[in-house]
Amino acid sequence: MFGGSFNPVHEGHKALVRRMIEEFSLDTVYVIPTFCTPLKDNTPMITPSHRLNMCKLAFADVSRVTVSELELLRQGNSYTVDTLGEISKLHPNDELFLIVGADSFMQLPLWHKAEEIFQKATILTIARGEVDCQKLLAQKALLQNEFNAKAFVLEEPVVQVSSTQIRNLIATDGDFSRLLCKEVCEYIRRNGLYGYGD
Ligand code: ATP
Repeated sequence: MFGGSFNPVHEGHKALVRRMIEEFSLDTVYVIPTFCTPLKDNTPMITPSHRLNMCKLAFADVSRVTVSELELLRQGNSYTVDTLGEISKLHPNDELFLIVGADSFMQLPLWHKAEEIFQKATILTIARGEVDCQKLLAQKALLQNEFNAKAFVLEEPVVQVSSTQIRNLIATDGDFSRLLCKEVCEYIRRNGLYGYGD
């Protein structure tokens, strides 16, 4: 499972999913846009259906990925523990993995029912920006000791880009086209998202 606000989805998300599929031989990755993110409620959000559509466009050329509406259909706060429960019902005999970026990995103990998340899934993460491998390995040890969590850390970061950076570029008429796939760029322009064209 790979959840996120995907506001908008970008090349970092795609590179992360590709890397995890390759490194851990994952059979399927569910990419799941959140309806609303409990720890991120100050971020300007566009409609869930736009975020979902962009995810579908972005991951159309990545095999083994299913873009899922599970959290959008449930509405309200998106709790990963509930989504993992739904996925394990769909795949009762399979091992579950939760893919998170480095910033999310550092926040995991704050997540709703964190202990239950660690019982349900092995966590996969990767260095990103200021959260380097050392910090991740220290956090991995803490999660193991305090929660008996299983986690794997990849040291080599993928593309350094964030949705915030893209939203800021669009708002200031900057060039954001290299940070997103062509189809998502066109979608943003066509729908005037994030103030494009204002
Ligand atoms: P924002 O800038 O709005 O906070 P974001 O770029 O972090 O957004 P999210 O949709 O919040 O994107 O990301 C979903 C998940 O993907 C999070 O766990 C995040 O850490 C991870 N992620 C996002 N971009 C990258 C990247 N470039 N490298 C590694 N992980 C990433």
